[in-house]
Amino acid sequence: MIVLTDTTIGIQCAKCGEVQFKTVSVFDFSHFNKEGYCCSCGAPIITLTSIDRGNYSIEYPCIYCGESHYLLAKRGTIWGESLLQLSCREKEIPLGYIGPRTKVENSCRDIKKTFIQLASELVNDEEAESEFDNFFIVYGVMEKLGKMVERGQLGCCCGNYNLAVEILSDRIEILCELCQASGVIYTDNKEVLRILDGVGSIFLEENMKWFLNDAYKSQHLVKNK
Ligand SMILES: [Zn+2]
Ligand SMILES: [Zn+2]
Ligand SMILES: [Zn+2]
Repeated sequence: MIVLTDTTIGIQCAKCGEVQFKTVSVFDFSHFNKEGYCCSCGAPIITLTSIDRGNYSIEYPCIYCGESHYLLAKRGTIWGESLLQLSCREKEIPLGYIGPRTKVENSCRDIKKTFIQLASELVNDEEAESEFDNFFIVYGVMEKLGKMVERGQLGCCCGNYNLAVEILSDRIEILCELCQASGVIYTDNKEVLRILDGVGSIFLEENMKWFLNDAYKSQHLVKNK
């Protein structure tokens, strides 16, 4: 068995969804037996703890089920030439890999693709309502808002195009800090993704609180007249 002195971790951040790569040296563990790594967004992505005789316990938060997963790994599987897969056990989806850099980078290429594919499949699946995690809705809404920003279709009537977005447990709030206009998008139902597609653009009105779901209803009434 070949034991290398460094290894690469590639793992999807449970908070922002980006795949991050970290190079880890065996010497990182010579003084402390625990090393935690964070995503560029600041969220923790993985913690490695050296337990005994070069065995490691690995902990990583999961974007799919929202829980942390734990794994025990032998020295050779981390500092070796083969890949160690980090996955969501509940859904059997890979989240990342540990091993030699090129192998990790190659294997990580599909992680984000799978993630986006799963998110969009769920959006189209009528039956999956109960299994539809709030996370996917939030992710979908943020993607759509991002596209609106790119096209200049998200702004405030006061002329401000630089709105603040806050993600809360059941809704996303959009805020104009210049005139205090605000918008509320409830994320407790995946219907909101279709509504957003129908709306196309969002412009907050000065000093008003705007609700996406209401906007859709009134639009609907007009259409049915
Ligand atoms: Zn992140
Ligand atoms: Zn999981
Ligand atoms: Zn404004």
